[in-house]
Amino acid sequence: MQEYKLFINGEWVNSSSGETFDDINPATLEVIAKLHKATEEDVQRAVDSAHDAFEKWSRTPAPSRGKILFRAARMLEERKEELARLMTIEMGKILKETRGDVQEAIDITYYAAGEGRRLLGETTPSELPDKFSMTVRRPIGVIGLITPWNFPIAIPAWKIMPALISGNTIVFKPASDTPLLSIELVKILAEAGLPKGVLNLVMGEGSTVGSAIVHNKGIRAISFTGSVDTGKWILGEASRDMKRVSLELGGKNPVIVMDDANLALAIDGVLWGAFGTTGQRCTAASRVIVHEKILPEFQKRLIERTKQLRLGNGIDETTDVGPVINNSQLQKVAKYVNIGKEEGAKLVLGGNIVKPLPGYFFEPTIFTDVSPDMRIAQEEIFGPVLSLISAASLDEAIGIANSVIYGLSSSIYTENIKNSFMAIEKIEAGITYINAPPIGAEIHLPFGGVKATGNGTREAGTTAIEEFTELKTVYFDYSGKLQKAQIDVAQEKL
Ligand code: NAP
Repeated sequence: MQEYKLFINGEWVNSSSGETFDDINPATLEVIAKLHKATEEDVQRAVDSAHDAFEKWSRTPAPSRGKILFRAARMLEERKEELARLMTIEMGKILKETRGDVQEAIDITYYAAGEGRRLLGETTPSELPDKFSMTVRRPIGVIGLITPWNFPIAIPAWKIMPALISGNTIVFKPASDTPLLSIELVKILAEAGLPKGVLNLVMGEGSTVGSAIVHNKGIRAISFTGSVDTGKWILGEASRDMKRVSLELGGKNPVIVMDDANLALAIDGVLWGAFGTTGQRCTAASRVIVHEKILPEFQKRLIERTKQLRLGNGIDETTDVGPVINNSQLQKVAKYVNIGKEEGAKLVLGGNIVKPLPGYFFEPTIFTDVSPDMRIAQEEIFGPVLSLISAASLDEAIGIANSVIYGLSSSIYTENIKNSFMAIEKIEAGITYINAPPIGAEIHLPFGGVKATGNGTREAGTTAIEEFTELKTVYFDYSGKLQKAQIDVAQEKL
């Protein structure tokens, strides 16, 4: 059995406790690796090594930092298939999707590498003669990164690459269910030439290792992706030390299907949006709000298509839907199906735990007659469960879309331009797709949500650099005399 250690100060080291935990294939329940479980002491060692590395790394010219990232991107590309297969074995999602996950990591690595030649500030005229003013971007310091299991390499790369190109050093804790891809990513960056101490990997439970990162006084900022409950707790705790916190949290993403929609297109999109990644995407389509005129036809055709999805091991190329990640997630999905039935929603497809293999499988499930205030229409289930909700008009549909605490992604299917623009204007979400499902972000555009989905930051795109840099404003006076700005002297003649 392969055993993986912590990566601190450029070396793979034992956990100070000597304890390990198991990494389990959710399709077969085989133990695929043993991981060293970090302690608070290990987190402190990681923070210390990130501190020691900061001065040199932050003073390395950004284009030189970019060269290391370019090398890493090429290595990720060369190893794409191998990494995708490893991810399917560790996390369960089907190969087509794990290839996409690795591709996201490749794309953000190239993108961030290129940012090394930009890291743009601004220049602007001064109020005074012989004075120059500008902004420059500075790294924040040691950053703590904490990531979830559903995108085992894409989300770590979305955080690590922009943080590195900006000159920060890192202490990183991946999800306990999926550390292997993070280990491979760290190995690749080290082989690409990342100096020791710049990126440190600690593994273990959120409640101990994650909490130690959140509370460590040497860490200046936390970037977290995960559930709302954990995010809220982190925000509260980290703010005591005035740490900068960026949160990318859950979703309950609506798809609106209008009576003028291209129905075949909408069904393709909903099928993929709801059951892709077994419904375990923060952007998954979990509510479809359908115009009442077309609901019967839409429902009939969607059920027929869903019945054809093949459940099984993601490593088999013919599988459409893989397992859910672990037993507690499986039980959570089953619990919500019961809640839906008790609330009076009509279960028209699926609803059962099944065992095509020993692992954690749940049938693709559809509820109809769902009213917007039911718990299955309000709370994030994070599994293959879809609620169909009827609406009589666009206004009503948008009202339903906005009736949840979340605001990550959203989508509308319509052939009408006015409907599209009303949706863009009125849906409370960080992302709106027109005639496409709510999943499938592109890395050069900002990603994030409103309301309980986050605290206003956006990852990827140019905003990724904002997340990991401080802006410094510079006034450069070359007049050789004291010149007072207008704040200090009454304005004379222009
Ligand atoms: P989670 O339970 O909040 O865990 C996320 C990460 O936080 C894991 O690494 C976890 O460690 C760690 N953690 C748990 N408790 C902690 C604590 N007290 N202090 C510090 N770290 C702690 O979420 P999840 O179940 O892994 O992921 C699913 C959630 O992520 C869903 O709500 C989904 O919508 C959201 N998500 C959001 C986005 C987005 O960009 N908006 C993207 C993907 C997923 P362990 O693994 O050891 O528990």
